[in-house]
Amino acid sequence: MAVLNDYWHLVLADLKNNLNRSVYETWLSQLEFLKTENSGRKVVLSVPSRFNQKYLETKFSTQLLEAVRKYFPRVIHLEFRISQKKNLSDIQIQDSFFESEEAKSSSKMKYKETSKIDSRDFNLQLKPTTLFNDSLNNLNPKYTLESFVQTSSNLLACNVAKAIVEKPGQRYNPVFLYSGVGLGKTHLLQAIGQKILENQPNLKIKYATSEMFFNHFIASIQNKSGKAFHEYYRSCDVLLIDDIQFISGKEATQEAFFHAFNELHQNNKQIVITSDKPPKSIASIEERLVSRFEWGLVIDIGFPDFEDRLSVLNFKLDKLNFNLNEQQKVKIATAVDTNFRDLEGVLNRIEARIKLLPDRPFEDYELAKILAGFKKASTIHFQISNKLNNPQDLIELVCSVFGVSKEEIYSTSRQQNLALARQVAMYCCREFLNLSFPATAKLFNRDHTTVMHAWKKISKQSLDTKNTYLYNKLQEIRSNPFLLTK
Ligand code: ADP
Ligand code: MG
Repeated sequence: MAVLNDYWHLVLADLKNNLNRSVYETWLSQLEFLKTENSGRKVVLSVPSRFNQKYLETKFSTQLLEAVRKYFPRVIHLEFRISQKKNLSDIQIQDSFFESEEAKSSSKMKYKETSKIDSRDFNLQLKPTTLFNDSLNNLNPKYTLESFVQTSSNLLACNVAKAIVEKPGQRYNPVFLYSGVGLGKTHLLQAIGQKILENQPNLKIKYATSEMFFNHFIASIQNKSGKAFHEYYRSCDVLLIDDIQFISGKEATQEAFFHAFNELHQNNKQIVITSDKPPKSIASIEERLVSRFEWGLVIDIGFPDFEDRLSVLNFKLDKLNFNLNEQQKVKIATAVDTNFRDLEGVLNRIEARIKLLPDRPFEDYELAKILAGFKKASTIHFQISNKLNNPQDLIELVCSVFGVSKEEIYSTSRQQNLALARQVAMYCCREFLNLSFPATAKLFNRDHTTVMHAWKKISKQSLDTKNTYLYNKLQEIRSNPFLLTK
């Protein structure tokens, strides 16, 4: 995670501010960031000696972890590695703890999650006091409402966020926010937390991804700190849970979350949840949780249209304090039509180039080179994975995206949304399954010319990013995990 590397000096600066100078100089100034492991959940730091390692582990791991997590809430585990590499085996002793019989028998957990624990995710440094430290809200100051650009595709979500900030727990509760990747869920969720904290500093706010919740839950069982876990999640005024889809299939974690949810909700505490899909579409999740999620407000952030992308681009360019000419901006906003994370990726590359050669103007051919490496969503072709290889499943997917039933899609009704869904389903059968026109026609009990017409129409309109409704629906179909890009 190169990003953490970039921010490492901030972590050190934070520690420097909060520690006695000589303590900082002796023990921490020599710490170096090495790498992250376990998908960014573990940070490996390099220390000069074994003595240094032991001392940091016992005295500073809590404080260090907190400082790291201010910027990177994903991180749950630090490892201090001696730079000469000679004492590596010592470090691995910690990891073996969870494989030991003692650890297994001390755990009362019988749920299937136990078998799935990646032992490297935890180590003995994860004392309950570290994990369930009430002062940890996991908010990242980078994500604010002020830096979140309001666009046509996130307008509703923005307004709901503002309403939550005004009266947490009173107007909309729970709020379930979903969208495709990189469209601002985490940013908005974090921004809600920041703003409430700014307005009402005495409120307790907790942000966690559902993965963190899961890790905390498992660790609490391993550490026998169930009470601390319960208190941590049930004692807050605002609970922000990011990417809830990760608790899919984790029954015990779902149960723990269900109880935390109920208690908070009964006490009018604000709950905001995000996901990459609507509640009903999350696989292997208990029905009672789905119904809780649907109690309040379910909203989505759509895919951005050209104007949305241009306004976010302008905002980010302003912040970076460099300008591109209008033509270049239009080129970027046209080409990068997937999400804002990709837009930021392109901007990072432009920024790197401009900083590297500050005196040379940024030429069109350089932009073209950067954009050439980028695949437009509308030109990516899709194929079906073996999980979704029959027309019935595909048609069902289209039905769920358009909110129509299978009976309706096969019917002769010409109601507008239904007719569009039917045409999209026909289009998808050809695009994704390579079905012929007559074969598709047979499925829908129609003439093959009807299918041909549908395919032509949708093919053409799918390239029109101004047609945001169709565009968003097609993106939603394409972002289904069972569809693989070629
Ligand atoms: P998600 O959680 O939906 O995958 P993120 O919140 O991580 O997406 O957003 C991806 C990146 O795009 C972040 O760096 C975020 O700051 C930025 N971003 C997303 N939406 C906006 C917006 N409306 N205005 C400004 N930046 C945005
Ligand atoms: Mg996110």
